[in-house]
Amino acid sequence: MLHKLKSIRWKIISLYLMLLIITLVFSGYLLQDSLKNYFSHWLDRQLVGEMKLLVGIIKPLVKAENRPVLDKMINKYGKQLETRITIVDDSGKVLADSREDPTEMDNHLYRPEIQEALRRRGIGKEIRHSATLDIDMRYVALPIESNKQVLGIIRFAISLDKLNRFYYGIWKVLLQTGVIAFIISIILSFKFSSQITNPIGEMTSAVQRIANGFLDQKLVIRTEDEIGRLAQMFNHMVKKLKNKMQQISSEKSKVEAIVTSIGDGIIATNEHGEIILINLTIEELFAVKEEEMLGKSVIQMTRSYKLDELINKALIKGESLTEEIELLLPEERIFRVRLALIEREEQAAGVVVSLRDITDIKQLEQMRKDFVSNVSHELKTPLTSIKGYVETLMESELESGTYNSFLKVINDEAERLEHLINDILDLSKIESSDSLLKENVDMVEVVNGIIPVVEPKAQRKNIILNLDVPAKLPIIKGNKDQLSRLMINLVDNAIKYTPSGGKVEVRSYSEDNNIVIEVEDNGIGIPQEDISRIFERFYRVNKARSRKLGGTGLGLSIVKHIVEQHQGIIEVESELEKGTKFIVRL
Ligand code: ADP
Repeated sequence: MLHKLKSIRWKIISLYLMLLIITLVFSGYLLQDSLKNYFSHWLDRQLVGEMKLLVGIIKPLVKAENRPVLDKMINKYGKQLETRITIVDDSGKVLADSREDPTEMDNHLYRPEIQEALRRRGIGKEIRHSATLDIDMRYVALPIESNKQVLGIIRFAISLDKLNRFYYGIWKVLLQTGVIAFIISIILSFKFSSQITNPIGEMTSAVQRIANGFLDQKLVIRTEDEIGRLAQMFNHMVKKLKNKMQQISSEKSKVEAIVTSIGDGIIATNEHGEIILINLTIEELFAVKEEEMLGKSVIQMTRSYKLDELINKALIKGESLTEEIELLLPEERIFRVRLALIEREEQAAGVVVSLRDITDIKQLEQMRKDFVSNVSHELKTPLTSIKGYVETLMESELESGTYNSFLKVINDEAERLEHLINDILDLSKIESSDSLLKENVDMVEVVNGIIPVVEPKAQRKNIILNLDVPAKLPIIKGNKDQLSRLMINLVDNAIKYTPSGGKVEVRSYSEDNNIVIEVEDNGIGIPQEDISRIFERFYRVNKARSRKLGGTGLGLSIVKHIVEQHQGIIEVESELEKGTKFIVRL
């Protein structure tokens, strides 16, 4: 209600009404005043006229002091004129009265109107409460003269009630007009204020709808005045706003699409380091939701002091940074972090942090470095030895036995080199061949096919080689040469790391649509702590022993790659001094 009373409409209406009431009251008073004046003058003149007329009639009776006739006459005229008429003589004694018995009335000489009439020799007037009649009366007196001599006084008295009734009538009319004017002005002011307030109301609700995101607002322009122009400008503004918003939202969705789809993690903060945006990658990385993280600090989300420190540094120094940091997620990963400053009016308004996971790159880089140093090392050893023997051969004359043994050593080392280089080349070939040659491979054929290669080695070491292969196995898709290589490497290792008199068993069977190959020996076994590393390049449990046995440390690397190329898995079970079992599932 209070809110309503404060509205423009009510202000206008109350202004109208106030003006109206003031006008009515003022004009009522002025009118009453002037009417009162005019009316009492008119009444006086009327009374005086009537009195003068009556004086002419009654003068002889007063002169003759014929009181009974005078009284009768006064009574008659008093009734006719609806006025109380009193006649007094020059001493103030009442001679006749149209309402009362003159004999019972006081001497009237000192009544003010009579005094005034005597003094002025003319009209005397007074308004007074009549004790006799108990009402306010207007008294008008006039001397009755004959030959310049006052015979008596005639006095008319009329009740003021009459006058008041007349004024009351005026006020009644005024009030009636006032009420009508009141109603008319309420209607008019309502209409007029509506013309102002309705468009304002429409604008207000349009603005409200805009604030709620509904930009399709258009005001109807009804007038050509200031309000109409305001509505026009409003429509113009809304149109511009809509264009701008569309522009912004399309820009925003573009940026959002880029930020979301980007593989790098993106975090944006404000100048206080509070998160204002994170992308999908960050959500997945830290297992959080953007809504939950907004307004929080980066350290709350990442638990990384280092990252927090970098953000603060960028904000304080006002410069962009690039660094590598480690994050626990929960396993350790390495990220390249770039911090770009968001600047507003040449002040840091926030930071955009992009996180790129470079763990794999780092690992590959390390692997490459290790590989190069390993290869160089592996190549250097036999070459040094070859060089040493050749130099000795050249410098001294040796007997043929020693000579031959030297040549044998050189030949062995050269063979080892060849072996090593072949293994490296094989490994690189297997690694780089993305599209594996897919042919139908019968594993029975493959396993039987390696017998001629491994059998002599087993015999040489007096090792029993047992093959347990069914007559038929499901045909698989793959590369036959590579699968032969896999089998040879595994069986070769089993023979190598099993002492003479030992036993190597090769089994193959199908299980759940897979082909399982097992190569089991009862050899030296692998220490538990080394099992996880034997598939690494150049990794050997015992380097000297492996070298002596002609190993390169690449055999199991090649095996693992081949298994992976065939989407298989390889497992190892081993116990020191008891034996080792490799299980391949294809
Ligand atoms: P290497 O050429 O030295 O044999 P591999 O990559 O084939 O290299 O094997 C890596 C290491 O794993 C070997 O040096 C050896 O210590 C261990 N190893 C592999 N096969 C066996 C096995 N059947 N029994 C015991 N140790 C083995």
